[in-house]
Amino acid sequence: MIELPESYALAEQVKKTLTGKRISNVVANHSPHGFAWFSGDPADYPAKLVGKNVTGAHVWSGNVRIEAEEMRLQISTPMRYHAPGEKRPAKHQLLIQFEDGSAISCTVQMWGCMFCYEVGHESEGIPIACSTNTNPSPLEDEFDFPYFCRLAEPGGTNALSAKAFLATEQRIVGLGNGVLQDILWTAKIHPKRVMGTLSDAEFRCMFDAVKTVLRDMAAQGGRDTERDLFGMPGGYRTVMSRKTVGNPCPRCGETIRKEAYLGGSIYYCPGCQGL
Ligand SMILES: [Zn+2]
Repeated sequence: MIELPESYALAEQVKKTLTGKRISNVVANHSPHGFAWFSGDPADYPAKLVGKNVTGAHVWSGNVRIEAEEMRLQISTPMRYHAPGEKRPAKHQLLIQFEDGSAISCTVQMWGCMFCYEVGHESEGIPIACSTNTNPSPLEDEFDFPYFCRLAEPGGTNALSAKAFLATEQRIVGLGNGVLQDILWTAKIHPKRVMGTLSDAEFRCMFDAVKTVLRDMAAQGGRDTERDLFGMPGGYRTVMSRKTVGNPCPRCGETIRKEAYLGGSIYYCPGCQGL
């Protein structure tokens, strides 16, 4: 699954690179993966897509939507562009080739969707079991402070940790364990901090950090721990990540720590993110 800043970076690159290209071949489910989700039978994808021109791309609910005339691909996996003549990856879950010899491939990371359906027929194209979140994303105006407060009401989330509140249950579109680390560092909140113990000011800080950190990450083409459509790292330099663990915190100088927590690593500064 890709997180929100990378979705924006990918959609922008897909739009610039692929718009106008005509699809000449499609291979879906080449390397079967237990958590790869398709619309109906992936063997039908070539019939749905071959001969269509890519007409645009944008982000919808954290997924990248690639429009190809009346058909749409809705993707939440990392994607890679392959120039004409360039070697294709040995393993992939979706490969789309174009008439000019270029291609893109999708490879599932943990889990991911590669839906394909006719625009206007979302209910047929998106399996109910993975029905897509229609909540606003933090980069949209509807995601404002009153909305954020409603996510925490009516106190049902008081017992959750900050990480569980922000990055589980798809409560917040596109906010996963990756982007979480810098958001909590910016807000000076420990990932294990219990939500019910946050002061009003801390809760407001958390909201502000969700908005500003994700905006920064998206504006800089995603994080430096992730790869874009061309295999290049994003321009946003992560503060709390596998790249910085063991380094001094840039705010207080304490050593950045890594721990396993809730099915993923957390990175935090014991100096400015106290429990
Ligand atoms: Zn610190």
